[in-house]
Amino acid sequence: MNSNHIPARKRRAKVTMLGTGDAFASGGRAQAGFIIDAAGARILMEAGPEILGAMKRHAVRPNNLDLIVISHLHGDHFGGLPFLLLEYMWESRLERPLTIVGPRNLESRCWRLMKILFPGFDLARIKSRLRFVVIDPGATLQVGSVKLSAIRSPHTKPDISLSLRVEIGSKTIVFSGDTGWNDALVKFAEGADLFICECTYFESRHLRFHLNYPEIAEHRGKFKVGRMILTHIGREVLNHRRQVNIEMASDGMQLAV
Ligand SMILES: [Zn+2]
Ligand SMILES: [Zn+2]
Repeated sequence: MNSNHIPARKRRAKVTMLGTGDAFASGGRAQAGFIIDAAGARILMEAGPEILGAMKRHAVRPNNLDLIVISHLHGDHFGGLPFLLLEYMWESRLERPLTIVGPRNLESRCWRLMKILFPGFDLARIKSRLRFVVIDPGATLQVGSVKLSAIRSPHTKPDISLSLRVEIGSKTIVFSGDTGWNDALVKFAEGADLFICECTYFESRHLRFHLNYPEIAEHRGKFKVGRMILTHIGREVLNHRRQVNIEMASDGMQLAV
């Protein structure tokens, strides 16, 4: 069906911000996670340690996901996966097989973590319901109705960190992941309906593996995007929030795209 024939309401995407804090849960914000609902699919982007609780607080059914996408292998971005898997094993069985996309080594790290946190559990049953898929920098993947692209972000070495572009229905959402300043991100984000950008620091401009607000503000005009919103909000940014002139996300916020 030509998308012009689909009512505008159905072509919309909804984004629910579940965790908008940094690794330190600054200001009591949950660590990384948000949901994209569009074109009949539900995607969880990032799974910080508190993700299961955040989903339940904001009435998002954990077992009703089509896809989980993880940007990199820091605990505040994937440390919640074992709790989700535990939920699927004991509390709410997956309604359909679930694909988990992320950088290389995500699958092995996830099972290592699961074995440390819940030793002796029989993982065979849950493994058969999951499909891990690697996305490399520069690659584009089609997963069902979702087109995913990635570029490497300057954040971790040797592990790979990604910025991610999600195209679904008629909408494009770009997520910076955790990143230092990256000129390539400007082009990568171009044309996005929504650009979700990390903003961890304010004064600490010497830390080159995260973005700071003055740097983002300096480059803001380069981003040709419909709407830009800041997440991964750190203590320094909260302390200077009156000086922040770009929209900031908060836990539980819903965005119509
Ligand atoms: Zn982080
Ligand atoms: Zn990180």
